[in-house]
Amino acid sequence: MWGINTGQAQVTEREAGDKLKISIASGKGGTGKTSVAVGIARSIEYCQFLDYDVEAPNASIFLKPDIKNVEKVTMRQPYFLTETGADFSKCVEFCRYNAVAYVRGKVVFFPELCHGCGGCLLVGPPGAVKERDIEVGKIIRGRASPGIDFIMGDLNPGSLRTVTVQAKLDEYIDEKQTVIIDCPPGTSCPMVASVKNSDFCILVTEPTPFGLNDLEISAEVLRKLGIPHGVIINRDGIGDDSVERFCDKNNIKILEKIPNDINIAKAYSDGITMPEYNKKWIKRFMAVIDLIEKENK
Ligand code: SF4
Repeated sequence: MWGINTGQAQVTEREAGDKLKISIASGKGGTGKTSVAVGIARSIEYCQFLDYDVEAPNASIFLKPDIKNVEKVTMRQPYFLTETGADFSKCVEFCRYNAVAYVRGKVVFFPELCHGCGGCLLVGPPGAVKERDIEVGKIIRGRASPGIDFIMGDLNPGSLRTVTVQAKLDEYIDEKQTVIIDCPPGTSCPMVASVKNSDFCILVTEPTPFGLNDLEISAEVLRKLGIPHGVIINRDGIGDDSVERFCDKNNIKILEKIPNDINIAKAYSDGITMPEYNKKWIKRFMAVIDLIEKENK
């Protein structure tokens, strides 16, 4: 199996009739990850597309979905009835996220740090700690032509609850469709939360020392998660062959190479996907899907 050389596989077995869930990730932003994700969705034509890059979702610029539904994502957060004069020190002691503190004898709540675990309600003075729903983002759903079921998470500005919005996206994954997941860049919690549901992850990188460094880290994360993965090299022709040598050494399949072509970049800046710019990309992206399907049989 490509890109897997440990026995740590955590990927759940697909049931008969379930389609592939493919995530597209990259160790850093600006490598062409979304370009590949929307290009694949446009090539498949009938699939589900989920934008998990909830801090900066931009796939809608390219897929241009007709939006049908906007739903708030909320989380429970406590509030403290300070006028009761109750002692909240047990809440302060309990909260491992330091979301509640005593400052000069007054209880102070830091909502950005609160994980909504509800613990301070349990340990706090009875009746003096209450809970309410706080909006942290939105789930936006629609349909992109011809048959792309489009779902996007959108984190509210200033909110730190990225993973809360992503967890809501998880509920919409449709096992009966091919699922394309556009992940956030990097290798921190939001990336892990995005790839964890996938059967295969495509890592998009550039053939440069920076690209190699980020690829090494991303591939290691996927190896530890037990998620099969392959690489698409973008802007092929710049840099050196260190990415190819790394893939070769680590048995990671290079699924496709996208040339360093100014016309692709221009199309991208106009919101045009690669298959729309040049139909040859439909064949090339479908060949990538074929390779992944063969690997996952
Ligand atoms: S709900 Fe949990 S995370 Fe939030 S303040 Fe209370 S103990 Fe801390």
